[in-house]
Amino acid sequence: MFNSRLDPQQHKEALHALATEKFDVLVIGGGVTGAGAALDAASRGLRVALVEPRDLAAGTSSRSSKLIHGGLRYLEQYDFRLVREALQEREAMVTSLAPHLVKPVAFLYPLHEKLKDRTYVGAGLALYDVLRGFQRALPWHKHLSQKNVSEVAPCLRQDIVTGAIKYFDAQVDDARHTMMIARTAARHGAIIALGASCESLVRDGNRVVGAVVRDCVNDNLITVQAGVVVMCAGVWSDELHEKFGLKAGYEVRMSKGAHIVLPGSAIQSEVGIILKTPVSVLFVIPWGDKWIVGTTDTEFNGDRNEPLANRDDIDYILAQANRVLEPQLKYEDIIGVYAGLRPLVSRKADSLTTKLSREHTVDRPANGFVSIAGGKYTTYRIMAQDVIDLAAKELRGEVKKSTTDKLPIVGADGYGALVQQVPLIAKESGLSETTIVHLLNRYGSLISEILELIAQDPSLGQVLTSKLPYIRAEIYYAVSHEGARSIEDVIARRTRLAFEAENGGDFLLDSVAEIIAPLLNWTRAQKNESIRAYKVISENERVAAEELLVAVEKISS
Ligand SMILES: Cc1cc2nc3c(=O)[nH]c(=O)nc-3n(C[C@H](O)[C@H](O)[C@H](O)COP(=O)(O)OP(=O)(O)OC[C@H]3O[C@@H](n4cnc5c(N)ncnc54)[C@H](O)[C@@H]3O)c2cc1C
Repeated sequence: MFNSRLDPQQHKEALHALATEKFDVLVIGGGVTGAGAALDAASRGLRVALVEPRDLAAGTSSRSSKLIHGGLRYLEQYDFRLVREALQEREAMVTSLAPHLVKPVAFLYPLHEKLKDRTYVGAGLALYDVLRGFQRALPWHKHLSQKNVSEVAPCLRQDIVTGAIKYFDAQVDDARHTMMIARTAARHGAIIALGASCESLVRDGNRVVGAVVRDCVNDNLITVQAGVVVMCAGVWSDELHEKFGLKAGYEVRMSKGAHIVLPGSAIQSEVGIILKTPVSVLFVIPWGDKWIVGTTDTEFNGDRNEPLANRDDIDYILAQANRVLEPQLKYEDIIGVYAGLRPLVSRKADSLTTKLSREHTVDRPANGFVSIAGGKYTTYRIMAQDVIDLAAKELRGEVKKSTTDKLPIVGADGYGALVQQVPLIAKESGLSETTIVHLLNRYGSLISEILELIAQDPSLGQVLTSKLPYIRAEIYYAVSHEGARSIEDVIARRTRLAFEAENGGDFLLDSVAEIIAPLLNWTRAQKNESIRAYKVISENERVAAEELLVAVEKISS
């Protein structure tokens, strides 16, 4: 049995393995699609390596709306197959694949015109519930009167909201989930190499037989041999196809989506809210004791590595939310902002090699090379299965079928029982029941590894800051088990302090650095450099915040 632990020692071994072993599959990209593809291939018994230049989920997969959903708006486009597929994935994740991370969340769909809206939306939500099939983990939708709405969501304006329909979807911390999929792949033998960028392809005649990978820390080039290279590079796909001299059958456009994060007190509601906007929908999503509100949909041509929310994005979100909310949301309420890039796929007219579905596209632009892009977070497992099915055709010998529909990700095993033992675990560990619940929802049964760390060093059981639930052991564990290698990895993705804490968590940088520096064997200079690098990112966010300030001043003058 292999180990799911991603730590500095495993990082060294991964780079060594890239240089010395021959792989069946080399996956480019450590977003949810790449992590899913590595897991799919490894669990078929294939020898797999994954390379990612920055961090797991550093691209779009940490910046989504964090909903595991069928997509209500696809119903209006009559794309029932797509909705059904996503809903079935949702049910599987909530019940068996990742119940510790993927949680049900209730939404209200506010109604305005009494009879017309209720009939139309009610029929849509009934269909949404039916399409998930027989496995039904989440409750059926429910009609609410105006009085019910005023009790459940006093924030909705009574003068224009005449009632609502309550329905269920699910939500996930996307960055943690992607990291846990990668750890599951490691447990099935996949080599996960972070800080490793694919620079070019190695060819034998017209067949791709591997790739040249840059170790981004030491700047060494490593030649990796592989039976097939599988590219899952999201919005980097066009750039890489071009760099590799490949003519792909599709193009990827980038569309930016921004979100704002607000304190719980800003919106009085027990449930989330979905609002229809002129172009799409806007979600008001509960996030612990906070709210995430978004998103936007605008064409983007800037730096893929650092999409930032600008003044227009925030204006749009506030204006759409304030159509129905009372009291109105204000600029000063905003705690955090983040933006991500949707990889939107369009097919090239002259391509014969592309198999296009409404949501994602798989392609084989060269022998020994396949790629995938598009889709949505919810259907990552299906995407992974599709691309590895195509990759399997490039390998000699029989490749087994995908088994990921029955393969829980690490931490899922035994989670249901642990939830029932919270008081017992709290008593034995000396932590509060609230902390145990917090840990179970982030680590599942891997909580035992966190508790072991605290047993060895009780100071790790203390909270990092009194304002948020994270404890010091989580910061330590991010490096000792979850592959984090920088302050940014810990603040932005292993935890979500980057948008949950004031000022992007700047006041916590020294405490975080103190905990992780010894594990990473950092010199003082390396520690300061990691803090500086995060501050640059946070400063860029602040530039957006200053724009907000100007806006506030304009409005109040
Ligand atoms: C605002 C927004 C909201 C969304 N909300 C939802 C939602 O609520 N629900 C839902 O289901 N979906 C949602 N989505 C869609 C979903 O987030 C994406 O479809 C999904 O995260 C894409 O994952 P990916 O792995 O394909 O791409 P990415 O996560 O971007 O991964 C691509 C990876 O490739 C790596 N890479 C780049 N160059 C190289 C190289 N040379 N070598 C190796 N690796 C390389 C990158 O560093 C990156 O990590 C949303 C998207 C956005 C933008």
